[in-house]
Amino acid sequence: MLGLMQDWPLLCHGIIDHAAIQHGNREVVTRSIEGPIHRTNYRDVRIRALKVAKRLDREGVKLGDRVATLAWNTWRHLETWYGITGIGAIYHTINPRLFPEQISYIANHAEDRLMFLDTTFVPLMEKLQDRLPTIQRYVILTDAAHMPQTTLRNAVAYEDWIAEVDSDFAWASFDENTACGMCYTSGTTGNPKGVVYSHRSNVLHSMMALMPDAFDLSVQDTIMPVVPFFHANGWTIAFSAPMAGCRLILPGMKLDGASIYELLEGERVTMTAAVPTIWLMLLNHMETNNLKLSTLRRVLIGGSACPRAMIEKFEKNYGVTVAHAWGMTEMNPIGSICAIKPDYDAKDVEKILDVKAKQGAAPFTVEMKIVDDADKALPWDGKKFGRLKVKGVAVAKAYFKGEGGEILDENGFFDTGDVATIDPFGNLQITDRSKDVIKSGGEWISSIDLENLAVGHPKVMEAAVIGIRHPKWDERPLLIVIPKKGESPTREEILGYMDGKIAKWWMPDDVVFVTEIPHTATGKILKTALRDQFKDYTLPTAVAAE
Ligand code: AMP
Repeated sequence: MLGLMQDWPLLCHGIIDHAAIQHGNREVVTRSIEGPIHRTNYRDVRIRALKVAKRLDREGVKLGDRVATLAWNTWRHLETWYGITGIGAIYHTINPRLFPEQISYIANHAEDRLMFLDTTFVPLMEKLQDRLPTIQRYVILTDAAHMPQTTLRNAVAYEDWIAEVDSDFAWASFDENTACGMCYTSGTTGNPKGVVYSHRSNVLHSMMALMPDAFDLSVQDTIMPVVPFFHANGWTIAFSAPMAGCRLILPGMKLDGASIYELLEGERVTMTAAVPTIWLMLLNHMETNNLKLSTLRRVLIGGSACPRAMIEKFEKNYGVTVAHAWGMTEMNPIGSICAIKPDYDAKDVEKILDVKAKQGAAPFTVEMKIVDDADKALPWDGKKFGRLKVKGVAVAKAYFKGEGGEILDENGFFDTGDVATIDPFGNLQITDRSKDVIKSGGEWISSIDLENLAVGHPKVMEAAVIGIRHPKWDERPLLIVIPKKGESPTREEILGYMDGKIAKWWMPDDVVFVTEIPHTATGKILKTALRDQFKDYTLPTAVAAE
């Protein structure tokens, strides 16, 4: 027997309808690409999103068509998402930090029909447009006064384009499993692959994200997603914020410490989210200028491992709670968030910080397990490392156009490519990407653990660890360090600091100092490039062993 409740499809444009009805006056504030702070609200965002939908419809964009966005977080970008999804088309966010070849590969692979882009990306797309035959029109996210001269095909200023229609338009209605958004994996090995989110997965993920142990958002909050919409579905904040009815602050293209600080304080932000690199810049800015935070209560950190030292600084020096999260493009993207369960002694501050440095527990809607190379489930003892596999309402079951073939195991689990431990309280700790883990004498060493420890040294700005070939141990860790400005730490100082805090055999065999560490387009350390850079490096211990 089926339940006798209504069939109310979980559609993303239903979120902006709700926000406009219940929270219509709530502000959406942007540091515009043109410069000034721009203010609007959910009611007007919806009205303009309806115009986007109507104008796209007139353009001939249909259900299932892909529409690209190459843009920073702004109110116009937000409107395009709802306009696109409102006719059943698919927003396809493109990360502008990708190599131009990757951008043209994914725009062609997705067969994007139209592109919305910021003025800043016009020169880039002018160079690429001849390679992109499917894009029929470029809509520049600006007004006539700021419209650049451009050779882009059928280019038009967004404000002029939507002014051609009114907002008298009805959203399309369709099955909640309809495709809604698309984001390509960063593709550090091989071509990027397209992940296709459904309306249902976005809505359920956003509801999950609002829970107190996750984003913890209410109508009282002001959230600033510093994480760009183009990074892993923008962590769904474009949906979860209007769903909760909280104020939304969009930082545009200025993501440096000073600009972020100015918005955090000036707009009385209570919750914010981004990758650790952003917070490193903010903390440096606040430390150098002796600044405090007066309204921020919670910061969500994910995308790469958040060092314990960063969590400690936010919590002890600034009174801000850190929620350390793990996720990936293939998951909408949240897979776990660290919240302190009552099983721990809340008064044991140091222990709590150790736990917060883990990526936390899977929220409802995510199932996870760790397995060995024979696919046997490993115990949750916080010690055994295994390949992390996940399953849930917001986990990919295939890539766009079937790239990569079958991606689920026979039990429906997706192999994340991460290696992790899970402790008896269900807290996950990512120890590495499976291809980055250092295999020394048949045992595994976590490069992430070593990096996190090294950045705790007061003279270290950033650290990366890679495995270097070793005649006796197969691989041994090399620590690569960028010192803090004006500091020149020695190898001995750093190794001395790490000594005693990790197992002896995990100690890096050498330390090298550099001025730059390469990063991927989403701010992760680019280990492939580092391995290439140090492929001829000989460890002092390797010489001794020969
Ligand atoms: P992306 O799809 O670009 O967001 O990358 C996803 C990958 O980033 C994951 O598979 C992890 O390897 C890594 N990652 C994300 N969040 C974390 C975290 N909190 N700690 C460690 N690694 C992370």
